[in-house]
Amino acid sequence: MLTKMLDCSRGNLCEAAEIIRSGGVVAVPTETVYGLAANAFDKNAVKKIFEAKGRPSDNPLIVHIADYGQISEIASEIPTLAEKLAEAFWPGPLTMIMPKSKRIPYITSGGLDTVGIRMPSHFAARELIRLCGVPLAAPSANLSGSPSPTSAKRVFEDMNGRIPAIIDGGESDVGVESTVISFEDGGVRILRPGGITEEMLLTVSPKVTVDAGVTAMLAEGAVARSPGMKYKHYAPKANVMLIKGSCEAFKEYVQNNAAPGDYCLVFEDSEAVQGLKYLTYGSTPDEQAHRLFEALRQLDEKGAKRVFARCPDVSGVGLAVYNRILRASGFCLIDLEVSE
Ligand code: AMP
Ligand code: MG
Repeated sequence: MLTKMLDCSRGNLCEAAEIIRSGGVVAVPTETVYGLAANAFDKNAVKKIFEAKGRPSDNPLIVHIADYGQISEIASEIPTLAEKLAEAFWPGPLTMIMPKSKRIPYITSGGLDTVGIRMPSHFAARELIRLCGVPLAAPSANLSGSPSPTSAKRVFEDMNGRIPAIIDGGESDVGVESTVISFEDGGVRILRPGGITEEMLLTVSPKVTVDAGVTAMLAEGAVARSPGMKYKHYAPKANVMLIKGSCEAFKEYVQNNAAPGDYCLVFEDSEAVQGLKYLTYGSTPDEQAHRLFEALRQLDEKGAKRVFARCPDVSGVGLAVYNRILRASGFCLIDLEVSE
């Protein structure tokens, strides 16, 4: 199969919508990361997403809408709090889990009776959904287990020959996937942190709980509230070690433990360790979210075998960055603050 690169012209969006309406899969830009989109109601189309990604069948897909009214086709019950949160944060990087309607096939929801729903803010994603006339199921457009793609070029690397078209909408603005929440006891639980932070949710929800799975490895045998938590994620080929501590402590640790050929992933140039190659991923949580996945892919391109990464601060969207890089490291966290 030839994979076409399409810019966001109206003609190209119509062509992409035609592919989707006839049961195909197209990669689309969103403000979080790029997604692989198909008609959420069509079992056979959704099956193609799982095949293109190599995604385990029990890992549910998020259903994307362009207009609030579409929610009633997808959810059988809409919590009052969901309406308020939608008003505050949609369109935007917030996925809300609700009981699914009969129209959503189990392949879309990974076998669950619930479904995650989101309204993206990227104009091309919303225009495409409108042109398709159906909600679109769309996971991140990477091969399962790889860092999510934040540009059309990175989607092409993973999906060339697997899907008919990629819409190029430039770099993803946020850079990490949406915040996923479920509803409980009059409040919400964050199952996956993202661009809509705990502080932001607290302006609307009386209670916000951060699920333990956000910052810790799931215990063996435990049931994941969010199935994605149990899979290896966002992992580059390199062995990433996440080092928590001051810049000085980081440098000292790396100097004592690194070998020639190892890489560092640091916030800024000034943190480079003499004699070692390095990449930067920014000094603010927003910048780090925007650049992390691209940095992980660049480390692979450079053939990095071992990477010493500076651990991000967990405030605001930093919690999402920490959640992703912790998984990218396979939970290899070296806490210099504890051992000091
Ligand atoms: P991705 O499509 O790669 O952004 O991953 C979507 C993630 O959202 C999944 O891996 C799940 O962890 C989570 N998710 C989607 N739908 C549900 C649901 N119905 N219940 C719990 N988690 C969900
Ligand atoms: Mg993903």
